[in-house]
Amino acid sequence: MNFDLLITHGTVVTADATFTADLAIDAGKIAAILPPNSSSSVALGVAARETRDASGCYVIPGAIDAHVHLNMPTGVGYTADDWCTGTSAAAMGGVTALIDFVETEPDESLLQALEKRLGETHDAIIDFGLHMTIQPDEHPVNGIPRRVSAKRIAEIKQVYDAGCATFKMYMAYPGFQVQDMDLFRALRAIAEVNGLACIHAENGDVIEVLRQSEICDPALALNHARTRPTINEHEAVTRAVMCAEVSGARVLIFHIGCEHAARVVADAKLRGLSHIYGETCPQYLVLTEDALARPDGRLYVCAPPLRPQADQDAMWRMLASRALDIVSTDHCPFTLAQKDKGSADFRQAPGGMPGIETRLGLLHEYGVRRGRLSLNDWVRICSTRPAEIHGMNQKGRVAVGYDADIVIFDPKARKNLTPRELHSAIDWSAYNGLTCTGWPRDVIARGDFVVRDQRLCASPARGRFIRRSF
Ligand SMILES: [Zn+2]
Repeated sequence: MNFDLLITHGTVVTADATFTADLAIDAGKIAAILPPNSSSSVALGVAARETRDASGCYVIPGAIDAHVHLNMPTGVGYTADDWCTGTSAAAMGGVTALIDFVETEPDESLLQALEKRLGETHDAIIDFGLHMTIQPDEHPVNGIPRRVSAKRIAEIKQVYDAGCATFKMYMAYPGFQVQDMDLFRALRAIAEVNGLACIHAENGDVIEVLRQSEICDPALALNHARTRPTINEHEAVTRAVMCAEVSGARVLIFHIGCEHAARVVADAKLRGLSHIYGETCPQYLVLTEDALARPDGRLYVCAPPLRPQADQDAMWRMLASRALDIVSTDHCPFTLAQKDKGSADFRQAPGGMPGIETRLGLLHEYGVRRGRLSLNDWVRICSTRPAEIHGMNQKGRVAVGYDADIVIFDPKARKNLTPRELHSAIDWSAYNGLTCTGWPRDVIARGDFVVRDQRLCASPARGRFIRRSF
């Protein structure tokens, strides 16, 4: 038995088990899981081009970040990470696959938009999928489209067949917000192809009125949270879950940050609705709305907003109990100069938080090490469930035949989350001052080392588009 790579003496952690084993990797796949030390046994005839010692480390399936925004056009220019810097930072943090988005213009088809977006992804160093955004394309009011055309909805099947099996819809943001009637029509079409809808659930109409109201002092970034109260998020999640239940569509509620909203998903599961899922993000697990009250509060503008401590505590409980399924980052990086557009008026600050590199480390530090998650929960939440929910059928597991996407995670390595220590193209860190004990040492993607001893060593442009299906 001759393999490309043997990973020896590590503690393999999967979503349901922890055991010592040696892993054999060949032709980009996991070829064998061997009893410890058998790979060094000459008698068994096991040999490899390279043997990598993982003593003292966890050997886990590569993390999957199913919600990032690289090179996305916004009112303040593009998000700061392109496909090279973004996927490099991701890899340094133990991510071996991610999912970004396709946004569409009213005068192009969804397939044309997909082709165009794929044309921007050449520099990706890890594999990636794309979510298709379904946004209004007709009946403009003041130049902003308000309705989703029947033609658009009819295109959903073509896009699914092209490997873009998940669809994003916004219930907030002028220009992106879909009305309930269109949301529901799209969900019926998504149910028909057995795709997945990912929903940004906030009541956008109420938010827009509050943001323009006299009680909203734009100098105070904390008003970002006050104009997006938890009951607003709760209402929209309830409406989205109702639409999912009635249409039968599989629905993932994106970036849940408050207990009331998470409970709606938990209750749906208790009622047996196993096609409804919930995502939260590191910012809701590690930060609170206190960050918005600081002088640099504009940096922490994201939607839904950061919440009080009680909601943060609830998010951890909801993850451990499986009421919430996964943690993605919603990485949406802006430089200080871009964020400074909101210095005097938080409504002008581009919304979004960085985090593509720090999720696995933060969940280990604040989840596993603080006793809120088991090691197996950690792997389930960061890797195995994201792969299952988003249709990455070759990823997310340490199992024979799966892609050899592996992280060798050193639980003793210390990492300061300063901008200097991180690799995103931004000049600040949302987690500055925090230290993680435990960090990815080596990252292997389809059998290739992309990070070795915490140093990037990926060959350029090696990432591939993952055609997903269910
Ligand atoms: Zn997002």
